[in-house]
Amino acid sequence: MLHERLEAVYNNVLRRNPGEVEFHQAVREVLESIGPVLAKHPEYADQKIIERICEPERQIIFRVPWEDDNGEIHINRGFRVEFNSALGPYKGGLRFHPSVYLGIIKFLSFEQIFKNSLTGMPIGGGKGGSDFDPKGKSDREIMRFCQSFMTELYRHLGEYTDVPAGDIGVGQREIGYLFGQYKRITNRYESGVITGKGLSYGGAQVRTEATGYGCAFFVEEMLKARGTTFEGKRVVVSGAGNVAIYAIEKAQQLGAVVVACSDSTGYVVDEKGIDVELLKQVKLVERRRLNEYAERRGGAATFVPGRTVWEVPCEVAMPSATQNEITGKDAERMVRNGCIAVGEGANMPTTPEGIRVFQRAGVSFGPGKAANAGGVATSALEMQQNASRDRWTFEYSERRLREIMQDIHDRCLQTAEEYGMPGDYVAGANIDGFIRVADAMIALGLI
Ligand code: GLU
Repeated sequence: MLHERLEAVYNNVLRRNPGEVEFHQAVREVLESIGPVLAKHPEYADQKIIERICEPERQIIFRVPWEDDNGEIHINRGFRVEFNSALGPYKGGLRFHPSVYLGIIKFLSFEQIFKNSLTGMPIGGGKGGSDFDPKGKSDREIMRFCQSFMTELYRHLGEYTDVPAGDIGVGQREIGYLFGQYKRITNRYESGVITGKGLSYGGAQVRTEATGYGCAFFVEEMLKARGTTFEGKRVVVSGAGNVAIYAIEKAQQLGAVVVACSDSTGYVVDEKGIDVELLKQVKLVERRRLNEYAERRGGAATFVPGRTVWEVPCEVAMPSATQNEITGKDAERMVRNGCIAVGEGANMPTTPEGIRVFQRAGVSFGPGKAANAGGVATSALEMQQNASRDRWTFEYSERRLREIMQDIHDRCLQTAEEYGMPGDYVAGANIDGFIRVADAMIALGLI
């Protein structure tokens, strides 16, 4: 149920952004949490902060022409939604995936505002990407696409303006090609214009691992708040990309047994615990499918094609694939199977029904904008190192990440408690993230 004024804002968002269902979903979730904030802060209503926050500051849509290895020309569409810069330059990743359209980028960009605010770092919210499908493309095709994409995007970027990074389909290789093209066009070695860079040219320790590690640290805190730990817990992670792999690695280092993970073709079950080094080799180095992992594990692992990994019983879940992968029905089954904690490594992987099921059943539910904020937080640490021309060690960077995740966790709990919703991490994250942005927007005048 929405507060009357918020219902009007939501209807306006529906009217202005027709068909953008993921964006509608992300807005509704935030609006459902902030009713109690309006009662305490009438100035937010007077200043129309909610109305303003739901409208992106700027949206850029552009053509990306590129040539494949056979000389054939292809046209893709590029996006960058610069949603909110009250706290700092727009910050958020780029997603290359055929499902990308304006509604996906707008939802991700909107989420990023609150996530970035929660990190406590000086970064605003933005996101971009393309409907380009990197699957099956050669390395040279990827390079040509990235160069064409940046040939348009560069004019909108800058270390004080807008700072992209990776997301689905954009890893260190793509960041290298994008940064190289930016440098070539502008004749500026502006390291802080993009994050997720390789260590040899201005990248930061732990950035690759940060989203997955951070998610595991967040879950560790949720478990601690329930009086337990990762030790001996049976964990399922969806996905087998950068986020999933490092979530698995850290959960296992913290004593868990991660028994399953998935990709777009199906899932593997490995009862003794996923072999992370083999998983990295198959997915990150060779870019192959998960059945290959099962084959190389001999009898230890089974590949199950075409089914959801959420049928595998677990005590802790870390959905780290993509949006809306855990439905209400999946959540019901997970609760029946004994799931007590969910940390979202991906952005919005649980549907609104799924979240309701988990929360009603008393499952500790860490929403993506809190649980996966370690990635962008470490991007802000990368910007900090670039600005000071410094390099930090792996150990120091990991310690900073862990402290940031503990701080986000504690603030979510405290804020939820303060607003009368104890244990509700969704409300805590939305309210805490919102207030900081709202206060900055008021302080900066009518922007
Ligand atoms: N794409 C990541 C996210 O969803 C990271 C963004 C960044 O590092 O700027 O938060």
